[in-house]
Amino acid sequence: MTALRSYAAGVWQAPADDGAPLHDAVTGEEIARISSAGIDMRETLNYGRRVGGPPLRALTFHERALLLKQLALYLQEHRDELYVLSYRTGATLFDARFDVDGGIGVLFSYGSKGRRELPNDTVYVDGPVEPLGKGGTFVGQHIATPLRGVAVQINAFNFPVWGPLEKLAPAFLAGVPTLIKPASQTAYVTQRLVELIVDSGILPEGSLQLICGGAGDLLDHLGEQDLVSFTGSASTAQRLRTHPVIARHSVRFNAEADSLNLSVLGPDAGPDSAEFGLFVKQLVTEMTVKAGQKCTAIRRAFVPAERLDDVAEAVRERLAKIVIGDPSRPDVRMGALASLEQREEVRRSLKALMDAGSVLFGDPERVELVDADPERGAFVSPVLLRADDPGRAEPHEVEAFGPVSTLLPYTSTDQVVELAVRGAGSLVGSVVTGDAAFARDVVLGVAPWHGRLLVLDAENAKESTGHGSPLPMLVHGGPGRAGGGEEMGGIRGVLHHMQRTAVQASPTVLSAVTNRWVNGAPYGDTEVHPFRKSLAQLRVGDTVVAGPRTVTRADIDHFAEFTGDTFYAHTIEEAAAANPFFEGIVAHGYLVVSLAAGLFVDPDPGPVLANYGLENLRFLAPVKPGDELTVTLTAVQITPRVDADYGEVRWNADVVNHDGELAARYDVLTLVAKEATA
Ligand code: NDP
Repeated sequence: MTALRSYAAGVWQAPADDGAPLHDAVTGEEIARISSAGIDMRETLNYGRRVGGPPLRALTFHERALLLKQLALYLQEHRDELYVLSYRTGATLFDARFDVDGGIGVLFSYGSKGRRELPNDTVYVDGPVEPLGKGGTFVGQHIATPLRGVAVQINAFNFPVWGPLEKLAPAFLAGVPTLIKPASQTAYVTQRLVELIVDSGILPEGSLQLICGGAGDLLDHLGEQDLVSFTGSASTAQRLRTHPVIARHSVRFNAEADSLNLSVLGPDAGPDSAEFGLFVKQLVTEMTVKAGQKCTAIRRAFVPAERLDDVAEAVRERLAKIVIGDPSRPDVRMGALASLEQREEVRRSLKALMDAGSVLFGDPERVELVDADPERGAFVSPVLLRADDPGRAEPHEVEAFGPVSTLLPYTSTDQVVELAVRGAGSLVGSVVTGDAAFARDVVLGVAPWHGRLLVLDAENAKESTGHGSPLPMLVHGGPGRAGGGEEMGGIRGVLHHMQRTAVQASPTVLSAVTNRWVNGAPYGDTEVHPFRKSLAQLRVGDTVVAGPRTVTRADIDHFAEFTGDTFYAHTIEEAAAANPFFEGIVAHGYLVVSLAAGLFVDPDPGPVLANYGLENLRFLAPVKPGDELTVTLTAVQITPRVDADYGEVRWNADVVNHDGELAARYDVLTLVAKEATA
């Protein structure tokens, strides 16, 4: 029988012993053996830090993002074999797509976010420059830089592809190498995934390692620059969180553990309403996709007491139609649990849940199957429970990690909120209602206990991605027992792998550190007009000073008439004089901006391709007829695109009057060619 290999310290390593058997979830056949015996964990971590870290950190965010996109495209071409392998975990093709395509989707998403929302640089600038002294010579700025350790991910068995990719993407984009330790039960799928990635040669060597088998003494060798992201049971999470090395070095530890997610049907949703149908359909989907082995699955379904029977009937009817059996058959809707051990675990949890309620559908010990052996495969029937006393502890504390859900009655909004929070923190909750006021009360009531909330109604149903789909741009974790809330969440997930540092310095030094011109820093070249320079020639700090230009009353009248903006402050003497801010006719702010452009623009064809907007525009002092305006335009940030022959340039525009008073300040955003065309 083949033993799964680990990819550690740059080589594929077979285990030093026979290892433990892994079984096909459907047939019970032994398919591989697993062990991490013989792997030097200290060396593996060091290899990540020493070999993986430096080349990764040398890449800019955009370069890393582009590699993630390339990897996504590569995996897309090879996903069929991952689907086929997933059948052995008990997953149907639909389930496997959720896992495989979902993981690839996360890579695409970070590949694109990284290039849109991060600089083409190695340092991340967080927030605005903070003035710290009156004279402008002492300023502060937060920056974020990648941690120098390894992002250790310890994953659960239920998402052998999405799990690793979901954690790899933000770590990689941050510039931190990853070490994957998959759950043993389904590690053969993750091993194939990592083989594909390594074979592709897309990621720098050392930026991804894999350990199949037990973690051994891995955690003993962690340091203050390493991170651990864990997904699995609350009890393991607790054990790891309190590991002495993690505590001693304050290792960033993020756990995503058991979550008793809820769905609430609004009191407005009668049996004939669209929301009633959506609630029932979603509940059945969440119970049966991946045989309910989803951290986001709905475990507690709250229903207005008077609707409980109607909901029970509708759910039963749908569950009865679910075909269970060999997951590779196209007509099968639900496959097996990941292992016979998991089935035992589910049956154990079900016993506790049944103490608090009655079974409305399904038999935990018996299931009808298509083309599968109930003794050898880890099959279990969907089980719908009903707890007439919603105050009982079990439904709020026991997670049966399978196709299991409990219906709970409620009689008021306050009560449902009170019951909801007894879950002690969840990843996701749904409110299915057409009543916006009820939705608001529940959302605000339960939000402190949730990472994500979906309000589902007839209006958004068609477009909704559903309760169970974590989205890379939205946080996946939650507070309390659900986890730390740092997983994914767009750029937040990237920053989780970086250290935020406040740098206090002069504008000159800050400009050098951040590669952005900071107000107060010296100007660069002021001789050649910066619009004559290609991206390759332009430097941060290059400046043009243009003006002065006198603003006349005729200019203001003309602008008012020409644009139709005849607001009284620009046109009616007495009314303008009575205005406490202006005390007389003033120029339109847009006129000031337009005149400034007229001053600083170099009109001849050249490398500047387009102006795509302004940001942070503030009119700081009124401009009156007779005022003389001078504008200073300075290149603040230069962002070449890695996949185009142009890039973005952000400019600071300062418009001052003849007294040197700042009339307007804003950022001008342009696209500039990388090379000047002859
Ligand atoms: P576990 O907590 O047992 O294992 C999760 C991961 O932790 C696995 O990779 C496991 O490795 C590893 N692990 C276990 N012990 C240690 C240790 N001492 N040091 C380092 N790593 C360790 O969870 P399972 O995956 O087995 O799932 C069990 C339960 O977890 C489910 O029944 C369910 O209740 C819950 N779960 C919750 C999820 C959620 O997101 N809410 C997702 C998946 C599961 P190995 O497999 O090699 O033991």
